[in-house]
Parts: sequence; structure tokens; C-alpha cells
Amino acid sequence: MRKIAAHYVLPVSRPPVRNGILTLGDDGEVLNLSAPYGELQESEGVEFYSGALAPGFVNAHCHLELSHLRGVAPQRTGLAGFISCVAAHRDAFPGEQALRAASLADAQLHAGGTVAVGDVSNRGLTFEVKAHSPVFYHTFIERLGLRREDIEHGVRSALLLAEEAAKLGLSASLTPHAPYSTLPEMYAALAAQSGSWSVHNQESREENLLFEEGRGALRDLLTAIGLTPAPPTGKSSIYHTLQHAAGVQRLLLVHNTFTSPDDYDAAAACCKNISWVLCPSSNLYIEHALPPLQMLRAKGASIALGTDSLASNASLNLLDELKLLAERFPDIPLSETLRWATLGGAAALGLERTLGSLDKGKRPGVVLLSNLDLDKLKLTPETKSRLLTKKNAYICRGKEAI
Ligand SMILES: [Zn+2]
Repeated sequence: MRKIAAHYVLPVSRPPVRNGILTLGDDGEVLNLSAPYGELQESEGVEFYSGALAPGFVNAHCHLELSHLRGVAPQRTGLAGFISCVAAHRDAFPGEQALRAASLADAQLHAGGTVAVGDVSNRGLTFEVKAHSPVFYHTFIERLGLRREDIEHGVRSALLLAEEAAKLGLSASLTPHAPYSTLPEMYAALAAQSGSWSVHNQESREENLLFEEGRGALRDLLTAIGLTPAPPTGKSSIYHTLQHAAGVQRLLLVHNTFTSPDDYDAAAACCKNISWVLCPSSNLYIEHALPPLQMLRAKGASIALGTDSLASNASLNLLDELKLLAERFPDIPLSETLRWATLGGAAALGLERTLGSLDKGKRPGVVLLSNLDLDKLKLTPETKSRLLTKKNAYICRGKEAI
């Protein structure tokens, strides 16, 4: 048993507890959270930390296999420019180098307080890293397809990757990449194989323009590489995904930077279980835009946070996303954004029974947030995060995940 205390405990599922004492079992299970009367006194057997205790972070969108592409794409190119750059460099590095970068990124994720990740893989390069990591990974095996003749092979190779993941004890599901890269037939084939999708959605204005009017930089990119984009429908790109998502049990819509209130309503009417995953640092890097946070809050959306990859972000630590949100949206309280970085991500990945909040019976991992503004309970540019719990405290391989 272990007792940990700090100036604040942020349980996420309820308001912050000043001078809270968290009691953990040997396996990291939360046994109790108590608040002493008055100031907390140094007492025997209680570890006291300066700062706040929070549940482990859950990063709902990452591409560990792109970790070696740090800095290869310039900022603010727009999505078409970014895709061209990543495609040109993706396989230009030796596999060993890509693997080393993924391994280092995984270690940094963990040290910064991340306990679970929804990670996109197009190949099996990072599977061993993920299988041996103390971080829990759910792998979304991603496929795109704009050529009918490629669909069968694409699905078959994805199923083989899913088998490989299962042999390593990794949780995995098949997912389409994005509306602009995926034919209706590919959506249908993937829907037949998977109940959990993580789809890039409305990451750029160009994506909506492609579907609404059949023009723009994404259309130019696709035609330049010999692909035929879908004909314009007069509707935004989200409808292309929604046409095939009604039977999907769990849908993560990622980015949503150019999602309108009407788009939100259409999605909510189509699917019951949607998580709106936001990656604000990546959006600034690629599009120089931020997602419509206030609209999503007003709609009562289930929000989660992701980092995207090191190709479009300096860090895979959700603390940096929280700092960015604190700077750009100072009126949103830390208790709310922290919820997106923990319980929101856990719910997106089907891990909310174990992770995401400091509730009795969970094994969420405990993160220390130090160098906070304790008077206002706000992050500062100097705030740091680190895990205080051992690696066996929050592992929940396979069974409980989506
Ligand atoms: Zn992504």
C-alpha cells in the first residue's frame, strides 16, 4: 500500500481536492481519496509532493511509426503539402532508424505521464515496441484506398497485421484513413471487419472543398498522383464517412478542425458512440488553425486529445497540448481540459473502467504536475509532468480494450 499527497489531487470525475491523500494498492489500484481537515501535516508513511496529482494521460491519436520524421515537413504547408512531404520521406530512412525513433518516443511518452495510446499503424514496424512498452496501446490498423483493384489486397494485408498484433498481445482494429483517401467500397469492406474506427476528419478546409465543389489543393494532389477523387456531392467530407459508419460501434473522429455545427449534428444523429479527438498542436503546425472547441463544448461533445505524430508536433506529451489550450483558451478550466486528456481518451479507447480518473477500483496511473500556479490552479509554461506509479500499475492488456 502507498499513500501519496500533494497540494491538490485532481480526480477528474469530481472537483479538485485540496491537500488530498491518495491511497493506492500494491498493483496501483485506487483504494481511497481523502481530504484532511485543515492543512496537511507531514505524517508518517505519506509521500508529499509539491503540485497536483492527476490520473495518467490517455493520448487518443498518435502515429508512433512516423516518429523518425521529426522536422521533415515545414510548418503551415496545408494538408496537401504535408501529405506530399510525409509520403516522400516516409520510407527514405533505414528501418532501424525509424524503429529507434519510435522506441525513444515511446519511452518519452511514458516518462511524461502517458499510460495509454490510440496509435495508428499502416505497417507492423512498431508492434514490438508497443508490445514491450509499459504504455497500453490500441493499434488502429489504417487503410486507404482510391483504386478499386487495391481494396481486396489492402484489407487482406490489414487482417494479417491484425493477426500479427494479436500474437504479440496487442489490441488492434482496422480503420479507414480519411474521406478524401478512401472509396466507399473500402469503407464498406473495413466496416465488415471492424467495430472501432479512428478516422481523420475535416482536418483542412481543402477536404470540405473537395467534396463540396470538387476542387482545391487536395484534389490537385490526388489527380497529380494519378488517382481519381470521388465526384463532388455538395456536402462536407464528414458525410462520406457517416454513410458507412452507422454500424460502427465506436467512432473516433480525429481533428475536426473545420467541422460545423450542422456536421456535428449529422454525426450525432448517425452514430451513438463518437469521440471527438482534437490535436491542436498538429493543427497549428499543418494548417495554422485550431479546432472549434467552443462549438464542441456547447454541443456537449465527448472530447479527447491526441498529439498526432512527431512529423507535425514537437512532443507526444499531452501536457504540451494542455499548455497550448491554456494559452489559447484561458477561460476553459484545467479540470475540463484535463478530463479530455484522461477520461476522454480512456472512453474513446474503451478503457474507462480502468483508466482516466482517480476513482476507487481503477488503476489509472498517477501523474505529478509540478510548477503549477497553485493559487489559480492553472498550468504555467514551466509546468512539468511525470509518472509516480510503477509500470504494472495500469497495464490492462487486450481484454478491456475495444
Ligand atoms: Zn493522424
